[in-house]
Amino acid sequence: MREFLGRYVRLVSAGFLFFSACHHSPEKTSPQPLISHSETAVVKEAPRFLHFSLDRYRVEEDTVRPGQTFGGILAAHGYSPSQTYRLIADLDSLFDPRMLKAGKPYYLIYPKGDTLPEAFVYRLSPADYRVIYLKSGGNKLYEEVAKPIRTEDRAVAVPIRHSLFQDLQTQGLSPKLALKLSEIYAWTVDFFHLRPGDGFKALYEDRYVDSTYLGVGDIRAAVFYHYGDTIYAFKYEYDTIRHLSDYFDERGRTLRKQFLKSPIKFGRISSRYNLRRYVKIYGRVKPHYGTDFAAPVGTPIMATADGVVEVAGYTRGNGNYVKIRHNSTYSTQYLHMRNFAKGIRPGVRVKQGQVIGYVGMTGYTTGPHVCYRFWKNGKQVDPFKEKLPEAKSLDSTQLERYLQFIKPLKQQLDSLAYESPSA
Ligand SMILES: [Zn+2]
Repeated sequence: MREFLGRYVRLVSAGFLFFSACHHSPEKTSPQPLISHSETAVVKEAPRFLHFSLDRYRVEEDTVRPGQTFGGILAAHGYSPSQTYRLIADLDSLFDPRMLKAGKPYYLIYPKGDTLPEAFVYRLSPADYRVIYLKSGGNKLYEEVAKPIRTEDRAVAVPIRHSLFQDLQTQGLSPKLALKLSEIYAWTVDFFHLRPGDGFKALYEDRYVDSTYLGVGDIRAAVFYHYGDTIYAFKYEYDTIRHLSDYFDERGRTLRKQFLKSPIKFGRISSRYNLRRYVKIYGRVKPHYGTDFAAPVGTPIMATADGVVEVAGYTRGNGNYVKIRHNSTYSTQYLHMRNFAKGIRPGVRVKQGQVIGYVGMTGYTTGPHVCYRFWKNGKQVDPFKEKLPEAKSLDSTQLERYLQFIKPLKQQLDSLAYESPSA
């Protein structure tokens, strides 16, 4: 039986590399059809290129040269301009020959003993192929073929000794892993200020097609050690109908943070973000990139989210102001302060709700207020019109199932050997 299963798995996984079926894992495939296959037929099965059996076909590989067209390639392989023209007309919207890019590989499929290719195959990516049947005669013209993607589970532990990228490199890991982690931990880990003593463990997938490495797939679970904090992240499908998933910590809390709606506790909006605001003292339209919150001098101003103080300084227009970088996407700015709160200077980490300064009238202003400015990817936007990250933790009805789900993942993470650089 074991022998049989072994052969079965080998057979399926051999087909697995070549057939266009998507994401069928050998385990999930029903063994039923196998019974109708004879063993000898299986052993004799010839290698294939996509679905073309190399018993019957010869494959010629080449790359698209600069300036080379689909018609040009076909003309060089025995097809007349009128044949090509008809083919392109028949293909209509199925395949746009202009999608061919110089440097990309293509394949010509010849029936053995024939000098005229039967199919043209364009490779979009190692997993993605477009097949054009050149001699279809009204039959199948075109096919999109996806090679199945194979995933391999990885479990890694990476203490930060030098820099994240260097430490990844030392372990032979993809820098894309850092990129993915920085998205998951955008609100909780300051990737610009990692330091020795920080580090992470992660359970994730590497993706392959045949033997080509495609990159890092899903990160299923991770734990980050950052400034003495231990921050778990587990990917969890919280909406099974719409297939929505997100990362939550070991208690089911979201890893995202929401911005406070206002940098002051009490106060009113006296002027909104308005690109066409008329300003009396200038006598013309001057865009207002901020939202003004009027409040008495001395009212505490709070950071609207966790982050790092980038600027705590003075300009003639802004007066005393603070700029905080929250993650690689968002920054906020607070203008016209009377003074900064104690300890607020560039490089200091602040928490959401922490007081960073006090309402004043410094800079160009006609009354006491804080002008709150919101930066997204280096541009000032209206925070009240932005679709900001939603921060939802799991509710009590989901929590029990979630905790069961993460239990083995957390155990696996915790048992991963991790050599802290301070140890
Ligand atoms: Zn303003």
